[in-house]
Amino acid sequence: MLIDPIMTFAFDPPAVATMPIADEDTRFPIRRVFCVGRNYADHVVEMGGDPDREEPFFFCKPADAVSHGRDDIPYPSRTMDLHHEMELVIAIGTGGTNIKESDALTHVFGFAAGVDLTRRDLQAEAKKRGRPWDMAKGFDLSAPMSAIRRSKAGGKEGDAGFIRLAVNGETRQDGDLGQQVWKVSEIIANLSTYVELKAGDLIMTGTPAGVGPLAIGDVVSGEIEGIGSVRFTMTQRP
Ligand code: MN
Repeated sequence: MLIDPIMTFAFDPPAVATMPIADEDTRFPIRRVFCVGRNYADHVVEMGGDPDREEPFFFCKPADAVSHGRDDIPYPSRTMDLHHEMELVIAIGTGGTNIKESDALTHVFGFAAGVDLTRRDLQAEAKKRGRPWDMAKGFDLSAPMSAIRRSKAGGKEGDAGFIRLAVNGETRQDGDLGQQVWKVSEIIANLSTYVELKAGDLIMTGTPAGVGPLAIGDVVSGEIEGIGSVRFTMTQRP
């Protein structure tokens, strides 16, 4: 990044959040993290929603909520009900607004496997009171992810393949990317009507059924076929 040579900062600017790229030495600089709510019909039902195909809705996590390669994730503060949500992550390589569905996959840099960690109790309270979800979703270390795998199939990798998560070796979520209500191309097209997407944006695309609570000591392992895997242990609060 070019910085104006006459600009001086009151303190050192924060480091850019980055992710590794599988089998490459270069890293992917993260700009923003968008998340899709309710994108697998069976998860919509388990959350008490209507599985009809309503327009996707989005929320955000901060870029520096993403973690990679951490063996331990401390159980977050202010919750008694932390849930796992295993998700496909789209990494945007070329930005745009009002992107056409037919062009959307050309904007994909690659994909990762991620977990949308959620303070379910805070989310339930926010839903009940009509309050924002930020503190339920966008807390520190709330998005552990695999490395990004660069797309070799023109973005089609995100349309099919198993998506699974196990806790202590026991399968909790076992779905297929083909079950997504909104496909990768549709999510990109729809989101780009709200914001200008730019290189470095990540989109977590929602979770299949089987979400549930995590406890201190749990070993969480998730994998998406052909894309990546993530593994961490929940540890004591700091
Ligand atoms: Mn989610």
